[in-house]
Amino acid sequence: MKITELIGISSIKLNALAKEGIHDAQDLLFFFPRRYLDRTNVQKIGQLRGIGEEVTIAGTISQINELGFKARKRLEIVIKDETGGIKAIWFKGGYYIKKRFKIGQKIALFGTVKQFGRHLSMAHPETDDLGEVSDLANFSTIVAIYPSGQHFHKARLYNSIIQKWITQLLNHSSLCSLIPEFIPEYIRSTYSFPNRTDAIRAIHTPSSHEAHKQALRRFKFEEFFLFQLSMERIHGERRTSKAGPRLTNNTPNTRLYFDQVLPFELTSGQKSALKNIQDDVRSGQQMNRLIQGDVGAGKTVVAMGALLMAVDNGYQGALVAPTEILAEQHFASLRKAFSKLDISIRLLIGGQKTGLRREILTDIEGGTCNIIVGTHAVIQKGVNFHKLGMVVIDEQHRFGVQQRAALLQKANNPHMLVMSATPIPRSLAMSLYADLDISLIKGLPKGRKAIRTAIRSEKKRTDVYHFVEQEISDGGQIYIIYPLIEESEVLDLKDATAGFQQISQRFPSARVALLHGRISSEEKDAIMQSFTKGEIDILVSTTVIEVGVDVPNASVMIIEHAERFGLSQLHQLRGRIGRGSRQSYCILIPDHAVSKSGAVRLKTMERTTDGFEIAEVDLKLRGPGDFLGTKQSGLPDFKFADIIQDQDLLGIAKNQARELMRKDSLLSKQEHFELKQFFESYYREKNQFYGLA
Ligand code: ADP
Ligand code: MG
Repeated sequence: MKITELIGISSIKLNALAKEGIHDAQDLLFFFPRRYLDRTNVQKIGQLRGIGEEVTIAGTISQINELGFKARKRLEIVIKDETGGIKAIWFKGGYYIKKRFKIGQKIALFGTVKQFGRHLSMAHPETDDLGEVSDLANFSTIVAIYPSGQHFHKARLYNSIIQKWITQLLNHSSLCSLIPEFIPEYIRSTYSFPNRTDAIRAIHTPSSHEAHKQALRRFKFEEFFLFQLSMERIHGERRTSKAGPRLTNNTPNTRLYFDQVLPFELTSGQKSALKNIQDDVRSGQQMNRLIQGDVGAGKTVVAMGALLMAVDNGYQGALVAPTEILAEQHFASLRKAFSKLDISIRLLIGGQKTGLRREILTDIEGGTCNIIVGTHAVIQKGVNFHKLGMVVIDEQHRFGVQQRAALLQKANNPHMLVMSATPIPRSLAMSLYADLDISLIKGLPKGRKAIRTAIRSEKKRTDVYHFVEQEISDGGQIYIIYPLIEESEVLDLKDATAGFQQISQRFPSARVALLHGRISSEEKDAIMQSFTKGEIDILVSTTVIEVGVDVPNASVMIIEHAERFGLSQLHQLRGRIGRGSRQSYCILIPDHAVSKSGAVRLKTMERTTDGFEIAEVDLKLRGPGDFLGTKQSGLPDFKFADIIQDQDLLGIAKNQARELMRKDSLLSKQEHFELKQFFESYYREKNQFYGLA
């Protein structure tokens, strides 16, 4: 059935649907309700008693009034059902809201009941348009409320119309072919997943909450299952077909570096990660390994080990970082670390002079350069390696999967090591990154003193500065961080610049520098180098130093407007201190007004330095999509499923996918016929996305 056959469809309505991504009947069937109005739970206005209670009511608009002037303008509407009336009030934006209502319209309100004098009211309730034609007495038990797309209202696309259309589709004889079943029967029966048509019915016209829940579970499983099947396929292909360079261990440079040059002993986490890498690279298969370790765990040394293994076996190694500052820093520390070794290292970043760039590219292509450190610039066309054997990607969550894939295409199956400080629970990581093996570096190097963190109000600024003075005279170095406001780089710059001037005046004898995203990379480089060398006492900076930067002597970090930062970001930033043997301090200075979640973030920072604990709180505050940055981390955007909350389903999907690929990897059995169609098109689509297989 075509979408144009819907009763009462018009080009205006078609347009509005298209703007919400609904182009055909399937799309409409998969336009799921935002919430449900449970009639048994809709209260009669006359019976509302509990003041301060959250309730849903439904009724007809009997009055619309605009009151007050200018800033004190408010919109009031009165809704009546057969038992009484209630006032809904909007203090701001009333003008826009008013346009959505007219007298006689039936709407539902969801909100908190208040009492003013004898009158009941709700301030800023959620409203759902029940449509002009909907008869309140004819509610089925549970009514679907659809997301009201921005363009819906103008096109008179009321909830009731969408309901009607969907009913039309559900009753159509071709429903089964519109949404064919593809989950094999034996899986559905094992987990009591309803079949696809029953499930879609239960989503739009649920007979009970339980039925709806089961149906939703099924669709979540669907998403996970296809995802896990593709992971299995990628995994399988890698395992069976991709040979990698065979590298021997314990070669001269590696021994020299680890036995004689390295000034400290490796932690047990670092040792076991290196052992994992050694085993991988000598197996003859391509390595795809993720190193997870909290900020400051010492991932760079592990990367150095991996690079040395490649170089010692006559291959080139590449170390890629998400920012220029970090790339430059890695370049400097590799050069220093390997200064006694006979290894040529080059830095490749954007904005280098043409002559220099040409020289570097020639070195890379000719093979005279052994290790290339750089940014995205390394991935670009025109960068050709002589014999690339090891790719290390630092802070991998900052890179897309495509960029990872593009790097791998620079050579014939080089080994790949990706490093991440985002603490994802291990079981979850294993499900998500089926294409990666995982090493976890637990704990921090010995001798670190736990960073002390304190929240200080504006009033305490004098004390804070006093403390800064002491630290500087004690030989310490200070970071002062200003937030990066992406929508307004100008504003952010103003903040940091003003801060810099103020600090320079307040500390006339200190050496103060300013770092932000707008200055040239040479200048940035110069500033970072002098800070590293201890020639700068106070570095005022935006969040450009957020990831990776390593200056062990820096012992104090002051974060201005601290409540504006995300929790994981604060943790990353704080990870810039506490990297040496000095006692380090992080001072969070919030603005006067801090939101509830802002306060939770700051308190959490004060309470703990444990990355996993912080990640958990962050996850709760932000939800998984935001937390993992699905787009960036290369995870698909699941429409229905939630990778944290639905972990059990993710696990089931993984096991079933694995089992199925073992039994019928080509999906050629009859019982997998539909699945094959579905999966192949899913895989093709995602393939571009993964760029891996
Ligand atoms: P991250 O895991 O955040 O990338 P780095 O690799 O930058 O951490 O290491 C943080 C600091 O700890 C660096 O100054 C590094 O030299 C130092 N470090 C790393 N490993 C050890 C160790 N085993 N013992 C002492 N210091 C170490
Ligand atoms: Mg690092």
